[in-house]
Amino acid sequence: MAMRKKLLLGNWKMNKTPSEAKEFAKGCGEMVAYAVNKGIDVGVAPTFVCLEAVKALAPKDLIVSAQNCNENDHGAFTGEISIPMLKEVGIGWVILGHSERREYNGETSEKCNLKIKALLANNMVPVYCCGESLETFEAGKTKEFVEEQIKTGLAGLSAEEVAKLVIAYEPIWAIGTGKSATKEIAEDTIGFIRGVIKGLIGEKAEDVRILYGGSVKPGNIAEYMSMPDIDGALVGGASLTLDSYKGLIEGLVG
Ligand code: PEP
Repeated sequence: MAMRKKLLLGNWKMNKTPSEAKEFAKGCGEMVAYAVNKGIDVGVAPTFVCLEAVKALAPKDLIVSAQNCNENDHGAFTGEISIPMLKEVGIGWVILGHSERREYNGETSEKCNLKIKALLANNMVPVYCCGESLETFEAGKTKEFVEEQIKTGLAGLSAEEVAKLVIAYEPIWAIGTGKSATKEIAEDTIGFIRGVIKGLIGEKAEDVRILYGGSVKPGNIAEYMSMPDIDGALVGGASLTLDSYKGLIEGLVG
């Protein structure tokens, strides 16, 4: 049985100015030390303009992730940020395929596949998000929908490469809505995703960390963590204040 380390990743989305981000980074030392002591990985994903400051001011054990990257190293891509730029400021993780980027920025699973390959070639960790709309959920088509996202996003990767990824299952109907999926729904879909990955790479799928995301809060995170296939949480709204972030860590530790 694989021992997967639990992971809490806060997605700040388009929140916090650099000075607000610095305040968080300076104030999270004790809670990060507590999490590390309990054997848990913790991180945050600030906006691009805050990455360098958070990296400089937060404890070195806090994972600092970008929220996106471009798959090209450089060139005529106005408004984009490359992997070498992120690497130079010490960033090793990038969220990809978040449903908000899929909806508002046309990010596709095919595009994510290119970005995943570019990140892995640079020894960086992609956090690949998948999840269905309310319409798909209500039509009972969640599994075929996420299977397609997983198979397309992970196409052409070796078992060793896939094992380095983090996957986040985030039903769109639960993101920022206050309407979280029950722990049974989350476990059922995440177990299914692990099965899809097993079909691609075999037993190494047991090493892949799969997070749940969607209205996770200090008050409900422990429920999800009690499920065998759920390895942590990707959290938006409830990751923004130090108090709430601390509550998430405490809930995750149990
Ligand atoms: C997210 O942004 O990935 C997310 C899950 O948001 P929230 O926790 O606010 O639903």
